[in-house]
Amino acid sequence: MLNVAIDGPGGAGKSTVAKLCAVKKGLHYVDSGALYRAIGYCLDGQGVNIEDAAAVAAGLDELSLRIFYAEDGQHVEVNGTDVSPFIRTVEVGAMASKVSVHGPVRDKVNAIIRQTAENYPVIMDGRDIGTVVLPDAPLKIYITASSEERARRRLLELEKAGKPHGTLEDVQREIEERDYRDMHREIAPLKQAEDAILLDTTHLSLDEVVEKVCIMIDEVNK
Ligand code: C5P
Repeated sequence: MLNVAIDGPGGAGKSTVAKLCAVKKGLHYVDSGALYRAIGYCLDGQGVNIEDAAAVAAGLDELSLRIFYAEDGQHVEVNGTDVSPFIRTVEVGAMASKVSVHGPVRDKVNAIIRQTAENYPVIMDGRDIGTVVLPDAPLKIYITASSEERARRRLLELEKAGKPHGTLEDVQREIEERDYRDMHREIAPLKQAEDAILLDTTHLSLDEVVEKVCIMIDEVNK
């Protein structure tokens, strides 16, 4: 099974690149961050303190998660409700980052996404895909860009989708806080896997990044 693991900090364009490469190369795109977002969004919405490990573990037991695919890509359902339209905001990104430090949350997400990788050839993006979720993936890519450039891209994405957002400085601050939390947590911190290819996209267009990643996929597929 050809599995491609894409990791890197928020706003680097991982999901956009992975989605486009999935279509070009006939792979199944898996957005692992969406599951963390869905859990953060639902628990926070229920009034659970998402920084309290015991409260999160108790709340998590009540959540039944499922991913499914529609024409516009991956959706996440929690207890029968599709939460996908509500989870790609700056606030929910911060909730996901807070909730993802807890071991039971990571175990729940990993069980779902590993199952998907067993059923399909996947291109999966997240923070720990190459290091923890799919350590044997034949292709691992660490996609990054400067935090200023990532904030600019995230702001554009939010504007395009008509989602609420602050100034460029607000978005950059949020991205840097999230990077710090993701890189310094105890379990599965964000880092480049030893055998991952580093792709700094700060000065590359989306088309250039997609082309590079597709060439890497062709190389391992030979
Ligand atoms: O990629 P996305 O911005 O949707 O991820 C939201 C948050 O979910 C990340 O900041 C990170 O804290 C968490 N996450 C994670 N492991 C993954 C994917 C996302 O911890 N594999």
